[in-house]
Amino acid sequence: MLLTEKVKRIVGPFGDSINCVTDIRSAERIFRLSGQVVAQPSKYTIQQWESEHLSPDGALWASVNHACIPNCTIDFETWELVSRSPIRVGEEISFNYNSTEWEISSPFNCACGSPNCGQVIRGFRYLDGAQRGDLRALLSPYLRSLFFTTDQPSRVASPY
Ligand SMILES: [Zn+2]
Repeated sequence: MLLTEKVKRIVGPFGDSINCVTDIRSAERIFRLSGQVVAQPSKYTIQQWESEHLSPDGALWASVNHACIPNCTIDFETWELVSRSPIRVGEEISFNYNSTEWEISSPFNCACGSPNCGQVIRGFRYLDGAQRGDLRALLSPYLRSLFFTTDQPSRVASPY
C-alpha cells in the first residue's frame, strides 16, 4: 500500500525500479509492505520469519531494488518502508535485502558502487561477522534473533 505519492515505478532495460518524483524528507513513510504470507521465498518476497515470506502480489513495493547502503529501511513494528535520508527527484529508492533475507532465492550481482558493496548478494547467511555487524541496526527481528544467538556465546554455566 502506497503511503506517499512521491514515488513511481520506472520500467528500465535491466528491470523495474521505484524512483522518487517529489523530494522525500528523512523518516518519511513510503509503502506499507502488505501482501500474502507464503512459505516459499521468491525473487519478490520479503522474509518475516523462518518459513514466512511476504509476497507482494503485484504491489509496487515488489520493484524496490537492493542497495548495500540503502536510502530506506523497514520499520519492523509496522512493516513500512521508511526513508533513512533525504531522497531527491530521480533517485531510486532502495533497501538492503540482506537485512531481511537469510538466504536469497535468486542471488544477484550488486553494482551499487558503495565501498562496502557485497558484490554477490546471497543473503545474511553468507555475510562475515564484520558485514553482519554493519547491518545490525537495520536487521529484521528474525535475523536479529539469529544474529544474537549465533554471535554471542551462551553465558549459561553448565551444571557439570
Ligand atoms: Zn552493493
